[in-house]
Amino acid sequence: MNPDSPSFGFATRCARAGSLSRHRDNQPVQPTIAQSAIFDLGSAEDAEAIFSGERKGFAYSRFGNPTVATVGAALADLEGGAEGLVTSSGNAATLCAITCAIQGRTGPLVTHHDIYGGSFELLRVLQTVYRLEIEAVDSSDEERWLDAVGRAGAVLVETPSNPLMRLIDLTATTQRARSVDAPVIVDNTVATPFNQRPFELGADWIVHSTTKYLNGHADLVGGCVISREPLNNTHRSIHKNLGGTVNALEAWLVLRGLKTFALRMAAHNCNAEAIAHWLESRPEVARVYYPGLPTHPQAELFRRQMSHGGGLLSFELSGGSEAVDRFFNRLKLIVHAVSLGGPESLATRPARSSHRGMTPEARRQAGVSDGLIRFAAGLEAVEDLQADLQQAFAINA
Ligand SMILES: *Cc1c(COP(=O)(O)O)cnc(C)c1O
Repeated sequence: MNPDSPSFGFATRCARAGSLSRHRDNQPVQPTIAQSAIFDLGSAEDAEAIFSGERKGFAYSRFGNPTVATVGAALADLEGGAEGLVTSSGNAATLCAITCAIQGRTGPLVTHHDIYGGSFELLRVLQTVYRLEIEAVDSSDEERWLDAVGRAGAVLVETPSNPLMRLIDLTATTQRARSVDAPVIVDNTVATPFNQRPFELGADWIVHSTTKYLNGHADLVGGCVISREPLNNTHRSIHKNLGGTVNALEAWLVLRGLKTFALRMAAHNCNAEAIAHWLESRPEVARVYYPGLPTHPQAELFRRQMSHGGGLLSFELSGGSEAVDRFFNRLKLIVHAVSLGGPESLATRPARSSHRGMTPEARRQAGVSDGLIRFAAGLEAVEDLQADLQQAFAINA
C-alpha cells in the first residue's frame, strides 16, 4: 500500500490514482506525461549517483520513467502489493512474472489447462523454444491440482477461468505452494482487485492485462506485474531487459482510466449479475456460467474468495450451433468482438475463436460446446442489453 494512503478507501485510491497527495506548490493536479526516452544526467557526480543506485533518478525510459512509475505505484496500491512493473501487454506481464518467479528454482511451472488462451500459447513457446518445464493440469480435479502444486517450481493460476467460470481455491493453492517454497502468480485480470484480493489469500505475484477493466476503455493494450514484497535488483533487471516496457503516453492513459475504475467495475458487476439471473429464466438458454449465481457449483468457494461475480459470464443456447449463428447475426447493440472490460458489451463464440485450435472432442472434454457464448457486460443500460439479447434469441422475427 502507498505509504501516503493507508487509510483511504478503494474508491478514493482509484479516483486519485497518480495524484493522491495535495500539491501545494502550484503543480498540475493531474500527473504529467514525461514523453521522453532520455533524461539529462546532470553533473558527473549526479550521473554517478544515479547509475550506482545511490540516488533515485531516471536515465532511459526502458529502465524507468516518471509517468510509468506513477502508474506502477497506483496499480500496486490498488492490489495491496509493494511495487508494480508496468508492461506493454498482459502477455509481457505474464512473461515477466514467470521469469521473476521461476529464476533460481527447480521444478516445473505448474498451471491449469483452462488458463487464458494467450497465456497458454505463451507457455507453449517457452516450453518448445526455451525448454521451460511446464505442467498444465486439470484443476477441476482439486486433488490432482494440489498434488501438482506440491511439486512445482512456481505456479501460474487464473480464477475465475475463462470461458466456463470455474474457480480455483487460492488459499488452498498458496498454502500447498508455500510448503515447497514455490511462488504463486495469480492472473487477476478477469476478477480485478475490486472483486478478489489475491495477496490477502497468499499470492506472491499478481499479473494484469490493463487492456481490460483497469484501463477500461478498450483503446490500448497494456499490462503490469505486482509484487507482494519489495522488488530486488534481479526482478528489476528482468523487467528492464525483457524489454516489454511502455511509453509515458500509454501509461498516462491507464492512469486516466483508473480514476473511474471503482465506479465502472461496480456497474460491470451489476450488469453481469442482472443478465446472468435473467438468462437463467430464459427458455432459449440451456445453461449459465457465472460465479455470482447461487446455482454456481462452487458457490461456497465464491463466497469465501470473491466479493462480487465480476463482469464476465458464459451461457449455452439450447438450439446449439445453428441458434448461435442466428444469435450473432441478429445482435444490434452488443458487439461481436473478443476481449472484455470496456464500455461496450461484447459477445464471442469460444468454439470458433479462443478454442478454435482444439479438436471438437477436446473441446467437448473441456466443456466448451458449440452452443457456448461468452458475454462481457459493458456499461450500457441493462434493459437495452436484455432487449438486444431477447430479440437475438427470437426464432421468427
Ligand atoms: C487479455 C488477457 C491476457 C493478455 O493480455 P494482453 O493485454 O492481451 O496481452 C492475460 N490474461 C487474461 C485473463 C486476459 O484476459
